[in-house]
Amino acid sequence: MAPTTMIPFDKAFDIALGAVRRLGTEQVELAQARNRILAQEVRADIYMPPYDMAMVDGYACRRADLGSELKVVETIAAGYEPERAIGPAECANIMTGAMLPEGADCVFMVEHSAPTDSGGVRFTEEDTSDNILPLGKNIAEGDLLLSPGHRILESDIAVLASMGYVRPEVYKRARVAVIATGDELVEPGIKPSPVQIRSSNGAQLCAQVEAMGCIASYIGIARDTEESLEACLKSAIDGSDLALFSGGVSMGEFDLVPGVLEKNGIKIQFDRVAVQPGKPTTFAYSDDLFCFGLPGNPVSTYVIFEILVKSFLFAMMGHTYRPPQVRMRLAHAMTRKSGEREAWIPVVTTSDGRVERVDYHGSAHINALSHAEGLIVFPLGTTELAEGAEVAMRLIRT
Ligand code: AMP
Ligand code: MG
Repeated sequence: MAPTTMIPFDKAFDIALGAVRRLGTEQVELAQARNRILAQEVRADIYMPPYDMAMVDGYACRRADLGSELKVVETIAAGYEPERAIGPAECANIMTGAMLPEGADCVFMVEHSAPTDSGGVRFTEEDTSDNILPLGKNIAEGDLLLSPGHRILESDIAVLASMGYVRPEVYKRARVAVIATGDELVEPGIKPSPVQIRSSNGAQLCAQVEAMGCIASYIGIARDTEESLEACLKSAIDGSDLALFSGGVSMGEFDLVPGVLEKNGIKIQFDRVAVQPGKPTTFAYSDDLFCFGLPGNPVSTYVIFEILVKSFLFAMMGHTYRPPQVRMRLAHAMTRKSGEREAWIPVVTTSDGRVERVDYHGSAHINALSHAEGLIVFPLGTTELAEGAEVAMRLIRT
């Protein structure tokens, strides 16, 4: 087993993402496209709006006539062509989204109108905006609206729908096998004996995988034996793009995952990363499979998935992930003994718009994350962050 020097997190990130192999593509129904990564260009096949459009319910007329009593010549609903051009001292009762009649150059709102004794209307305000959205103002035919690699979220569904992309081409979802390891583990449905603990990483990792739009397949709990780990690895190789192991990558006598990977031709690229939590994070791959070995403590597993595995999986699907983050100031100074690793700290926002750490006792403190809104980094080589220092809070409840 080659590497055992600790490398900075940024380097580990680059090594992993540099090894990515892109998945193939497929077409999906628009209703299933949310959270998928686009694999094609989306171009406009029409102008938007496709005609000069009334933006309010009201009266379309000539701006020069706003001071006059106006005769209502027709009613124009959305979806219907106006039948008449607007002449002097005339207007059309027009609905939001309807086509502006010829001759009109403004629309005043119903709320700014009053009926006249002769059955017409008049404008009751000082001035008004045009309330017209001109043809092609938002989108011109041929415009590039979305590029390959774009992650399709809710508003993008509207763009696809508007341009008739009812079966967009997207990257295939990465298939991720999840394997928990440890003789002490029992499945969550079982009451643990005094020397056992419930496995929480399997369920947590599957949830993280599914939340980002990949397919999780839970293999189970591998015992701390080569045979058991190998059996789980073999079921992962079949039909998965990536296997995630939790536990079994530290320095203990029963941390057998790296050895089993190597033995099966899956080459270790790094196995010590200067990050806390997550030091024993291991990355390996063969021609058939990528593997991450994540430390067993649930907060480590969670954090390393968020800051490393997620970007890796997105890259497999052609997407460059930019985590949502906000720059905020620290409510209190923070100090630590050693700057040997970068450290990720769970934080919340305070009522005066700063950030402070949540009660957090380290990587086994699973419920600490339930109270956190984000994570901030204590950078490599740094042992002090001053009160008021600006930090980037990476949001985890999006
Ligand atoms: P390991 O990385 O295997 O040395 O495990 C480190 C710690 O994480 C130990 O206290 C394990 O019991 C715990 N742990 C390992 N796997 C899991 C799991 N699937 N769910 C919850 N805790 C785990
Ligand atoms: Mg273990």
